[in-house]
Amino acid sequence: MNSLTEYLSNNAHWNELTATIQNGSVPGAIGVEIRSGWQNELMISLARRILCEHGNACGECKSCHSWVEDTHPDLLIAGEPDTPAPVDECRRKSSDLPMSPVVSTRRLLVFFAPEKMSPGAVNSLLKITEEPPPHGHILYLMSKAAILSTLRSRLWMLSFSLEEIITPVQPPVNQNSWINWLKEVEKYDADDWYAAAHGYAAWLSQNSDVAKAAQLQQLAETAMLTHLSAPMWSDLLFLHLRGEYPFEHVFDDFRQTPLPGVDSAGRRK
Ligand SMILES: [Zn+2]
Repeated sequence: MNSLTEYLSNNAHWNELTATIQNGSVPGAIGVEIRSGWQNELMISLARRILCEHGNACGECKSCHSWVEDTHPDLLIAGEPDTPAPVDECRRKSSDLPMSPVVSTRRLLVFFAPEKMSPGAVNSLLKITEEPPPHGHILYLMSKAAILSTLRSRLWMLSFSLEEIITPVQPPVNQNSWINWLKEVEKYDADDWYAAAHGYAAWLSQNSDVAKAAQLQQLAETAMLTHLSAPMWSDLLFLHLRGEYPFEHVFDDFRQTPLPGVDSAGRRK
């Protein structure tokens, strides 16, 4: 079990929501405030429950069998963590929501980053959020719940702070523990790395290395935004935790990695 799954299973607000879904009374519109690195995982966890015939991600019903990795014919997604979809795409997906479910008894439409949408874009979603179509449900995922109160008041709202989720982890201390670490991290994906970087940062700040902790947190956020590959995460954390790689150079390397929609010189395409 990773740290997010473990944290959620012990969270009363999460358990209340998932029990409600299992009882068959899925809220029309849900909002979740959580750091961007966890949003995809949380979205899939909720979508698997909402689209399941039994409301509990049973793994056995027709709808549960229709998942292909993280895609499902009744799951519509607009945007990605920290990046809202353009207004016309939001409108198009909203008009797809009322269509009959393909395999499930419901359809779910996910909007990322409503806190970064223009007021006009948010206003265009108020009506469908207030009154989703029959079988239609909406999920908003945001890093900060700084959204219009007119939207917020229509949502079953949950807020999770990263500090609550992260368990402090001591970085390896000697040659043997580094060798074990390298074996252990072979199967890590980017989300595991994100959690690990914040876990080490939490331990470092508890143990008075606040500067190194802050650098690690910054590293983790930047790495998620640049979609860093797992092997690069591994190299960066290894070198940074061992102090063999000057922190400034980490960001030189990032600057050479173009962000989505930006060319290598940092200009918007
Ligand atoms: Zn199921």
